Amino acid sequence: MPEASPPAPSVPPSPARPAAPAKSAPQKAMEKLGLVRDIDLALHLPLRYEDETRLTPLDQARDGDTLQCEGEVIESRIEVRGRRQLLVKLRDDHGAQLLLRFLHFYPSHQKTLAVGVRARVRGEIRVGFFGREMVHPSFRQVGEDTPLATSLTPVYPTSAQLPQAYLRKAIASALKRAPLDEVLPAGMVPKGLPSLRDTLQFLHHPPPSAGLSTLEDHTHPAWQRLKFEELLAQQLSQQRAQRERAELRAPVMRGRPGGLHEQLLAALPFALTGAQQRVAEEIAFNLARPQPMHRLLQGDVGSGKTVVAALAAAVAMDAGWQCALMAPTEILAEQHFRKLIGWLEPLGVQVAWITGSVKGKARQKMLDAAASGEAKLIVGTHAVIEDKVRFARLGLAIIDEQHRFGVAQRLALRRKLADGVPDDDGQPMEPHLLMMSATPIPRTLAMTYFADLDVSTIDELPPGRSPIVTRVFADGRRDEVIEKIAAAVADGRQVYWVCPLIEESEALDLKNATETHAELGAALPGQQVGLLHGRMPTAEKAAVMSLFSSGQMSVLVATTVIEVGVDVPNASLMVIEHAERFGLSQLHQLRGRVGRGSVASVCVLIYTGPLSDTGKSRLRAMAETTDGFEIARRDLDIRGPGEFMGARQSGAQLLRFADLQEDAPLLSAARALAPRLLDQHPRAAQLQVERWLGHKTEYLKA
Ligand code: ADP
Ligand code: MG
Repeated sequence: MPEASPPAPSVPPSPARPAAPAKSAPQKAMEKLGLVRDIDLALHLPLRYEDETRLTPLDQARDGDTLQCEGEVIESRIEVRGRRQLLVKLRDDHGAQLLLRFLHFYPSHQKTLAVGVRARVRGEIRVGFFGREMVHPSFRQVGEDTPLATSLTPVYPTSAQLPQAYLRKAIASALKRAPLDEVLPAGMVPKGLPSLRDTLQFLHHPPPSAGLSTLEDHTHPAWQRLKFEELLAQQLSQQRAQRERAELRAPVMRGRPGGLHEQLLAALPFALTGAQQRVAEEIAFNLARPQPMHRLLQGDVGSGKTVVAALAAAVAMDAGWQCALMAPTEILAEQHFRKLIGWLEPLGVQVAWITGSVKGKARQKMLDAAASGEAKLIVGTHAVIEDKVRFARLGLAIIDEQHRFGVAQRLALRRKLADGVPDDDGQPMEPHLLMMSATPIPRTLAMTYFADLDVSTIDELPPGRSPIVTRVFADGRRDEVIEKIAAAVADGRQVYWVCPLIEESEALDLKNATETHAELGAALPGQQVGLLHGRMPTAEKAAVMSLFSSGQMSVLVATTVIEVGVDVPNASLMVIEHAERFGLSQLHQLRGRVGRGSVASVCVLIYTGPLSDTGKSRLRAMAETTDGFEIARRDLDIRGPGEFMGARQSGAQLLRFADLQEDAPLLSAARALAPRLLDQHPRAAQLQVERWLGHKTEYLKA
């Protein structure tokens, strides 16, 4: 033990070796929001502003105005009208009065707003028959000559642990220190846009004369500059990644005549749709080239992506390479596994299965098979990219439902994959990468925005599908829904009943599912009703799933573990309880579990009121369309850009300020400028990317 170690916890650390200062809760909260460097703070922009630069005389206030006023407290009392409330009466310099009402308050409220005090208050005013009133205004004590703000007050997006005032201070001081010198060579910034320094100064602290509406709708030139900057950084990083990738080597793969690829095609129980054929060719074209593929295969739920993936895998195996296929959940991985085994084992391919729950000897056997190259195809969850898994000759990696993989996992994947590939005469090689997603992005958008991603789209469903009818029910009509289930089951059909995931309370979630399970069991005597939830041991989950897949079980009550990819064509009724708690794309994914066979399918959305406006729009969208592209568009509309904080953390949305549709002209300017910067001013390009993307650059490539 080193001598200088602190002898006992009760002794404070010696001054010679100060302990690193503990981070305060707001500091931690800032880090969580990605606000680490000065530049990160400088680029954290207000959601809106409050005008604290002037005082409104009370007699000029109109009902519904949000305003600031000032006056003397002439009365303060606590009253019980149903509940305890604090009522404070204020009189301004012109003698007009205002009642402040606090339904929640602390003793400090009363102290600050004591009779005789001069107070400045801000809030929404109600002017009614009984006079003027503000509920829960912000307030502070002032003197006769306390100055007013000289610029609009920014209101920043923040989180619960990070008080607005703390964040405001941190940003104001970071803004002074942040390196904001122009990095773009003269003449490269579109005409009429201010410098970045002026832009940020202005956007954080706009003068009172700035039009609030142009600030808030982001049409102001300062916003244009900022969005241009962001798009440029994004284009630079994408185009740079694309150039780097073009320099990398990858295995060249072609199907052999009479090989697996041909055999698989011949063995399939159906013919490929035109769209499947087209995308399979696009993928085969990439695989036959010596640069690593980086392709997104998108297609609505049920459009048949798995078989396209299997064909790509067959090409890789024909050329003597291993292929890894990864899915976000065990159930989904297992389903792929079964399907692929069904298709490929009869053709003599050994498929290995690696997930977190495959343990002990079985796991070792799989690991050995992957490492020796004996297993040509390795299917699993992200356990596949764990460190212990080694591949002999990994040539193609396929990730299903790609949006469910986190940033960290995608990074690990890239690193992992690179070591599974032998060098090509000393040149390092990377495997080809195929990502699949049922959450589509519009094609034109994908092509302009994701410069480093090729996109294949399956825009056609296999024939013989009958459309899914979606119906929305209030929860009072649960009995009717149960009758529908009884009828479907009596017809030999199968039914899913999905209960929502309540994130804060897994226990509650489970209770809900368990109760529904019991209720349905009692309502359907003689039928097997199963229960599937995230906390069950894997083996049990697998057992339930296989009973359902084989048709022995008629009803499956599940939490969202079945959200993606599950494929049981005989299931024709999907009931989603508390549908209002699900996001739109999640509902669409769930609904996609039915409508996979030839019988007409129904999706019943049960909601518990009262519905919020977004809740209503979501359910309406679900009832009106089954087209995944349309759903994605509406989802964006409904959620709006305001949700970027959450999205940014999950890494789902990469742009904070620019809107790809609205700002298309800025995007084309940025797109055209990027190659010139990369070629002629690489240093400026580098600075621009660092400024905006910092440590996220790596991710943007993945
Ligand atoms: P997803 O795109 O949602 O992953 P799947 O790959 O699970 O869809 O395919 C959905 C179902 O359609 C599966 O049962 C699959 O075997 C079937 N299928 C795929 N392609 C065709 C086709 N061309 N003709 C008929 N059925 C098909
Ligand atoms: Mg799928």
